[in-house]
This record gives sequence, C-alpha cells and structure tokens, in this order.
Amino acid sequence: MGARPDTAAPLGPEPPKLCGSCPRLGAFRDANRIKGPSWFNGAVPSFGNAGARLLIVGLAPGLKGANRTGRPFTGDYAGELLYATLLEFGFASGRYEARIDDSLQLVDCMITNAVRCVPPENKPTPAEITTCRHYLTARIAQMPNLEAIVALGRVAHDSTLSALECRKSSFPFAHAARHALPSKVVLFDSFHCSRYNTNTRRLTPEMFQAVFAAVRDVVPSQQPSRRA
Ligand code: URA
Repeated sequence: MGARPDTAAPLGPEPPKLCGSCPRLGAFRDANRIKGPSWFNGAVPSFGNAGARLLIVGLAPGLKGANRTGRPFTGDYAGELLYATLLEFGFASGRYEARIDDSLQLVDCMITNAVRCVPPENKPTPAEITTCRHYLTARIAQMPNLEAIVALGRVAHDSTLSALECRKSSFPFAHAARHALPSKVVLFDSFHCSRYNTNTRRLTPEMFQAVFAAVRDVVPSQQPSRRA
C-alpha cells in the first residue's frame, strides 16, 4: 500500500486527515474513533510557518496527545519539555496550555512528525515510516528559508536523511551531534523528549536546552527572546 501511479500529481507536504496509505494505522484510527469520538483521530498536520528557518521532526503523534488534539506534541508528555524549551529560546511565543486553541505560536519554527498518524504502542513499522516519508520530503522542500532541522530521536534522524537523500553512514545519529548536510541545512540530533527518556534521565532538560542553544548559533534570533 502507499504506492502511487507515476502519473499522479506530486503529493503536497500535508496528508489528508483520513490518509489511507497505511492499513494498520487506518485500522488503529478507526478503533480510536470509537474510544475517543471527540478526538482529532487523523493524520496530524505540521504546526508552524513554512517560511521558518527551523524544522523540528518528531516521531509520530501520541495516542492521547497529538492524536487527540490535532497539533504535534500538544497534550503529549513530550510536549511539556519541547514547548517550554521553544519558549525559552524564542522559537515560540504565547502560552502552551496543551490544547490546540491555546495562545502558543511558533516563531521561525515548524514542527512535523516522521509519521503523521498515531501508531499502536508508539511504534511505527519500517514500512509505515517509508510510506509517510514523501510528506516529510515535501515538507522540507517547501520550506524555502530552512537552515536547521532538529531530529528528535533516531527514527526522525534517519527519515530526515532519507528525505534529503543523504547516506546514513555519513551522518550517524548521536545526541547533540550536528551534521552539515550537502543541502546546506544543518541537522541537529537530540534524544527524543519522551516521558521514558526524561524519566530515566537519558535526556535532561539541560541536555535538551543545550541542543537548542547550538541551534541558535545557526539560526540567530531576529527578535528579543526571554533569555536576552
Ligand atoms: N507527539 C508528537 O507529535 N510527536 C512525537 O514524536 C511525540 C509526541
């Protein structure tokens, strides 16, 4: 599934809400619609401005987070650290209140996921990651001012490299690594800001902040931030 005839028009950077490319994810969505009829329950679109210089790539929506609210990382445990850090470094403004109609806005930043639909047990299959990749490819291609990408975790890292047709062996994933890609975009790696990683202290808030401090070297602030 997911194969398209060569004659089809190029796909855009955002999937239809009821994307039918991955049968397992579609079936999971149908089951979740019964469990949470008021939830978003669809392919979660990217959040932010396509004119941004920074793109953050996550893994996939959380069941009762982004899949419920319809905005990446919103209502997810991982969003607490992510949005606090983006606010701290001036990549967001307003107030994050874990709902899609809060006052949070991204500043010079966009957030997307390697896989747009919630997977069972937070684990997309390799085939689902591959099937969804053309949305990431198109997302990146349609960010004319893009200078930096933060990959949250290895799946996001690998999928971003594949989207940019870069060899994985040339750019190995490591927390806090910084890769100058041939396209002139700088790829920053971070452990995913998941509940598991933060609870086990594999990723501390300080480690996460250090990644965004490094991003600020490449994407200097164009407006006063809370750290200024
Ligand atoms: N929520 C998302 O949208 N993406 C993740 O990677 C994790 C939680």
